[in-house]
Amino acid sequence: MILNTNILLGAVAGDIIGSTYEFNNVKTKDFNLYPENSKFTDDTVMTIAVADALLKNKDFSENLWNFGRKYFHGRGYGGKFKNWLLNTDRKPYQSYGKGSVMRVSPVGFYAKNRDELFQKAVETCAPTHDCPESYNAAKYISLAIFMAKSGRDKKEIGDILDQKFPEYMIKQSLDEIRDYYVFDVSAEGTAPYSVKAFLESTDYEDAIRNAISIGGDSDTLGIITGAIAMAYYKEMPQEIADFVIQKLPEEFIEIMVEFDSKYNR
Ligand SMILES: [Mg+2]
Repeated sequence: MILNTNILLGAVAGDIIGSTYEFNNVKTKDFNLYPENSKFTDDTVMTIAVADALLKNKDFSENLWNFGRKYFHGRGYGGKFKNWLLNTDRKPYQSYGKGSVMRVSPVGFYAKNRDELFQKAVETCAPTHDCPESYNAAKYISLAIFMAKSGRDKKEIGDILDQKFPEYMIKQSLDEIRDYYVFDVSAEGTAPYSVKAFLESTDYEDAIRNAISIGGDSDTLGIITGAIAMAYYKEMPQEIADFVIQKLPEEFIEIMVEFDSKYNR
C-alpha cells in the first residue's frame, strides 16, 4: 500500500497537481488542487525511471528510454527528448534544459553521502543532458533534497545552497518573482525557483501552492518543489495522496512502494 509519507509521492503529486496549470498559469496560491483532468506527465515518468534504475541497478540511459517509450503519448516531452526516445542510438545531445532537474530527485533520497549524491546526480544527466550546466543544476537539486531529508532547517538549507551555488541565488521573494516569472526551458531558469518555493513554505501543501503560483512550467516546478518538501516535511495531506494515487499506473505504484521501503530513512 502507498502511504502519504511515500518519498516519491511528494514529487509525483507536484507534477500531477501542476499538470493542468502549465499551459493555464495561475498567478495566485488560491487555486483548485484537484482539477479532474490532472494527469502525470513526462516529469513523473522520468522520475520513476530513475528510481527504478537506482533500485534495480539498471542503466539510466536504457531505463529512461524504455519508460519514455512505454509512456509516450500525451505526456508533454520536449521536442529534442522526443527525438531521443524515437531513435535507437540513444546518443546524448548536451541539453541544458530542465529535464535534468525534473528527474533527479530519487538520487537525493538514495545517496548515503555527498560523493555518492553528486556522482549519481551526474549519471542521471549523462544520457541526454551531458553538459556542465545540467550537471550543476542536478547537483544543486539533489543537495537540497539530501539536506532536507537529513533534518537541516530551512535557513541552513538556503544558506548552504547559496554558498555552494551562488550562481542560483535569488534575492527576491516569491511575491516579487510572481510578477515577472515566465516559462523557462533551462534547468537554471527552473531549479532555483523550485527551491525558493520550498524555502518560503510552511508545509507540503503550501510548498506546492507556492510552486504553482509563480507560473511557468507548473508541473516541473511542482515535481521539484514537491520532492524537496516531502524530504523536509515527511508527509502530505491524505486528501492529496488519495487524489494522486488514483492517477497512477500500478507499475509506478509498485516502484514507489519498493523505493520508499528501501530509502525512506
Ligand atoms: Mg511535464
